[in-house]
Amino acid sequence: MTNHLNRTHDGFIQYSNDIHESGVMTPAAVVSTTAVTSTHFDVIIIGAGFSGLIAARELSLRHRTVLLIEARDRIGGRTFTTKLEDQQYEMGGGWVHWSQPHVWSEITRYGLSICETNGATADRISLLLENGSQLKVLSMTNLFPEICRAMDDYSNVDGVQGRTVLPIPHDPFAAREAVELYDKLSMQDRLDQISASFNNNQDMYDIMDAYLSMNSQGKLSEGGFLDHLRWWALGDFDTARLFDKTSRYKIREGTSALARAILNDCHDIKLLLSTPVRSIQRADDNQVTILTDNGQSFTARSALITVPLNALYKMNFSPPLKLEKQRAINERQCRGGTKFAIKLEKPIGNWCGFAPYPSPITQAFTDDEEGTIIIAFGVDDLLNIRDFNAVQYELRKWLPDIQIKYIIGHDWRKDSFAEGTWGWYRPGQITSNLSILQEYEPPLFFASSDTANGWRSFMDGALESGLSVVQHIERYLKND
Ligand SMILES: Cc1cc2nc3c(=O)[nH]c(=O)nc-3n(C[C@H](O)[C@H](O)[C@H](O)COP(=O)(O)OP(=O)(O)OC[C@H]3O[C@@H](n4cnc5c(N)ncnc54)[C@H](O)[C@@H]3O)c2cc1C
Repeated sequence: MTNHLNRTHDGFIQYSNDIHESGVMTPAAVVSTTAVTSTHFDVIIIGAGFSGLIAARELSLRHRTVLLIEARDRIGGRTFTTKLEDQQYEMGGGWVHWSQPHVWSEITRYGLSICETNGATADRISLLLENGSQLKVLSMTNLFPEICRAMDDYSNVDGVQGRTVLPIPHDPFAAREAVELYDKLSMQDRLDQISASFNNNQDMYDIMDAYLSMNSQGKLSEGGFLDHLRWWALGDFDTARLFDKTSRYKIREGTSALARAILNDCHDIKLLLSTPVRSIQRADDNQVTILTDNGQSFTARSALITVPLNALYKMNFSPPLKLEKQRAINERQCRGGTKFAIKLEKPIGNWCGFAPYPSPITQAFTDDEEGTIIIAFGVDDLLNIRDFNAVQYELRKWLPDIQIKYIIGHDWRKDSFAEGTWGWYRPGQITSNLSILQEYEPPLFFASSDTANGWRSFMDGALESGLSVVQHIERYLKND
């Protein structure tokens, strides 16, 4: 597997001496098919993230003619890997786990391996309170059992840790009545319900606030509690296992190596990069016409749209999609916040920091063995991650003596092809929108991590969704 690095427009590096680099080097910046001579295909897939890539592989291996159209100058969507000074960074999604069935199967298929994030098992934890004015340094060994207790209480809505709500975590509506009940709650509502159990332990309340806002990447009153319960159920109803599954192991070769491996395995597909799709038209005979921003037009017997939910409202459908689907698309979901990496001049060891909302950074932890790299997460758009001084100011509230060498990241909220990070529904949206968003309107089909059933909002969910849709497209094409 060759992993040449090319520059993508996505991402940035901001050095301490004011030098700014726009775009980073990544193996995800592959090249388009040189000549797309045909203009008619069995399937046109819009979006070359993991859901689009896996569908392209499966359909092409079934001898379907496939055109994969991607707006960016690279594949991988909300994931891409870069390297700087011999250090590998994941600019979007990065952590994986062997209990994520679809992603693990692909890791195995392509002979990839995993490595560990050191700060996921940090030995010291800094807690920033009172709007950043008070700092406490605590031992993780002492604190962890308390965090587990608080997480148990938070998730235990039914006396059996939420098991009656999501008995089968990969089936979102296996217990519909309970799902509808708890979908009404926001993350904040649930925290209010159990706050008495903290026995006035404000530290624990603040740690829960910081961790939960990091997961939903925003204000707790805006994030739906049911998505927390889903993560919890997928984490086997256990805090340590949830942490391991969501933030401990990465693909050693990088997520872009996986994206490239899937692309290389496609059978004779056509790939067009840097080609945003503007509109999708359906004719009376069900032929689909795709029009791109640069004026190209392609036709197909079917189209698969894998554009992120928060960016889908910009796509023009003619005739329009069903009214209910339009409503769900226009509502969108939580926007997410920021994830970025900070390279320090000097190592700080195995460290983790928490700060409750509205701290511009709610959680941060070291990533490498020495502790010179910190991965930080912020909520909403409270921090301009390109502003070196602003980032250093925030981080010094936790670690007063640090000197930052550079910041490396990508602003997903401002990225017009994503308009957010990972998916998180608002209260009520899973009940009212998920099934509608999953519905196909043949010859139009949809797939996305944002509408997956199991590890929705993870790479695994993108693969699940992209794999599931293939059988429906196949059936449609056979009967067409
Ligand atoms: C900062 C961050 C951290 C994350 N952390 C993790 C993690 O640790 N582990 C994990 O498993 N997941 C993580 N995720 C989530 C995971 O990366 C995503 O859920 C998953 O990669 C989404 O895949 P997708 O194919 O559904 O969508 P995308 O990857 O978004 O792919 C959709 C594609 O459609 C393209 N597109 C959009 N508009 C158009 C248009 N008009 N025309 C043509 N193409 C278009 C986009 O450019 C994109 O390439 C993270 C995401 C982010 C952003």
